[in-house]
Amino acid sequence: MKGQRIVIIGGGFGGIAAARRLEKRLPDHGSITLISAENHITYSPLLAEVAGAAVLPGHAVAPLRQMVRRTRVLMGEVEQVDLEGREIRCFGGDGPIEFDQLVLAPGRAANVDLLPGMAEHALPLKTPGDALHVRNRLIGNLERAEFEDDADRCHRLTTFAVIGGGASGVEVAGAIHDFLDRAHRYYQGTSAEDFRVVLLHDGPRILPELSEELGRYAERKMRARGIEIRTGCAARSVSAAGVELPDGEILRAGTVISTVGTRPHPLVEHMALPMEGGKIRVAADLAVPGHPGVWALGDCASIPNRLDGDRPCPPTAQFADRQGRWLADNLVARLRGGSTRPFAFEPLGQLASIGHHTAVAELHGWRFSGFVGWLLWRGVYLMKMPTLARKVRVFGEWNWNMLFPPDVARLSLRRTGEPAELD
Ligand SMILES: Cc1cc2nc3c(=O)[nH]c(=O)nc-3n(C[C@H](O)[C@H](O)[C@H](O)COP(=O)(O)OP(=O)(O)OC[C@H]3O[C@@H](n4cnc5c(N)ncnc54)[C@H](O)[C@@H]3O)c2cc1C
Repeated sequence: MKGQRIVIIGGGFGGIAAARRLEKRLPDHGSITLISAENHITYSPLLAEVAGAAVLPGHAVAPLRQMVRRTRVLMGEVEQVDLEGREIRCFGGDGPIEFDQLVLAPGRAANVDLLPGMAEHALPLKTPGDALHVRNRLIGNLERAEFEDDADRCHRLTTFAVIGGGASGVEVAGAIHDFLDRAHRYYQGTSAEDFRVVLLHDGPRILPELSEELGRYAERKMRARGIEIRTGCAARSVSAAGVELPDGEILRAGTVISTVGTRPHPLVEHMALPMEGGKIRVAADLAVPGHPGVWALGDCASIPNRLDGDRPCPPTAQFADRQGRWLADNLVARLRGGSTRPFAFEPLGQLASIGHHTAVAELHGWRFSGFVGWLLWRGVYLMKMPTLARKVRVFGEWNWNMLFPPDVARLSLRRTGEPAELD
């Protein structure tokens, strides 16, 4: 087989797993190029802790260059893919980059237009930048509340609403509540009773990804600690005042965080590929039908799982990572004239941290909750954290956090000469 130019778009869980596996399977064949908008992978399971000021933003990422050996890493945002001409262009005029084999792994975009007012008034949680923004809003609002004499305005500043009772929403509500619980003593103008964390979920119970028993357990524990949980409560709109609830009531909140809603990646949307539910429809071996040499994986693709009756895989890091490795094996098999295998994966399970050293976990059918669940949560995510350097840092930071007071420093991004930030 002649040396092929393999290009991967997207350095997330799926893209990096594909690159690493290709390096192993093709140690000296052709070239592997990874183009990604950022030069790091974002370890999304830690974003809730970044938002809750328990982990620094830089610790929830790992540099792509330190995760690969012979892959050429290019930091750039792909603007256009010419499937006929087999070349890629990035924003800013960089390129073109030519390819023989293309792996699409740009993930999905957050849908900030899901509800009226959401784009302007709610904070999404998808990137380290989003998480830092939530952290700053959280601390900034506590600082502002110190100035406030008006009880109503103060109450609004110290109310935090989270839209979405899935794992991300539950984790961020838990992390924010933990932070407020520990940080309030540094704010003399307010007391513990002034703070309010409200979790809004449209379904009958939170954590629908987990069994009913664990979902109910999480709900009980979180309520007992003072987090307000409103199930069957689909937010109608978001405004500067807060969130409009189904009965028209306005939940007055100075911070609204949204963990719901995704939309197709704009790059993928404009590529004229076969689509299914806003995702690229791929064959069971992760190749895109009708487009030889084009493959897709991760959140941007609808991938049937042979071990789950060919139902589409859920959008999780666990699946994206396994799909990356599977795709690389199939790509190599195709190049060598061999046969490819349909994707088949039995997931490890699901975990969610609910705050206060408590978590719920379902691993290979076994259920864990409370402190044991939390130890498992930490163990599993530490093990999966990319690079040894990051594992050590996060482990150190977790321990630091248990021994020392919470970090109430607001990390301003304001440069000299710039006006005061509003947020
Ligand atoms: C807050 C949060 C918490 C989560 N927690 C968990 C969890 O605990 N467990 C779990 O299994 N899953 C979790 N997930 C889901 C998980 O993060 C995703 O399923 C996973 O990241 C998908 O991997 P991916 O490779 O498809 O895409 P991503 O990881 O999103 O990576 C896409 C990559 O493509 C790059 N990119 C995008 N556009 C372009 C472009 N035009 N040009 C070049 N590069 C581009 C991006 O910069 C990014 O690096 C969580 C998600 C969020 C948002």
